Amino acid sequence: MADCIFCKIIKGEIPGKFIYRDDQLVSFYDINPKAPIHVLIVPVKHLHSLQEIKPFDKELLGSLLLKVNVIAKKLGIAKDGYKVVINNGQVSGQLVFHLHMHLLGGWKEGAHWQV
Ligand code: 5GP
Ligand code: ZN
Repeated sequence: MADCIFCKIIKGEIPGKFIYRDDQLVSFYDINPKAPIHVLIVPVKHLHSLQEIKPFDKELLGSLLLKVNVIAKKLGIAKDGYKVVINNGQVSGQLVFHLHMHLLGGWKEGAHWQV
């Protein structure tokens, strides 16, 4: 989508600090981290949110979930643990309407917040 900030990052039109990239998804550091380590995992395909996914997105969504621990390992947070957050829609706090997972971790003495 032309005016989507994450589509622009994926295309290289806006810089991003990437940790992972393949044909289906990318992962880059959040510009405003809410944990010692905070990256976003983003499908290359522009999907608005979980509110608008379709059954044919099943394989893509499975790939995203399967990649979380691979990326967590690259970041060195897989063993201690991490959180995964997906905001969906305005009241949840979703600011960028291109579906993405927040991968958060790296706390020394445990996360300061829990859901
Ligand atoms: P949301 O609130 O939509 O779930 O999360 C959007 C996230 O994208 C926020 O944590 C915000 O800090 C991050 N973000 C917004 N603009 C940019 C940007 O230009 N670059 C990067 N790396 N992250 C961004
Ligand atoms: Zn997009």
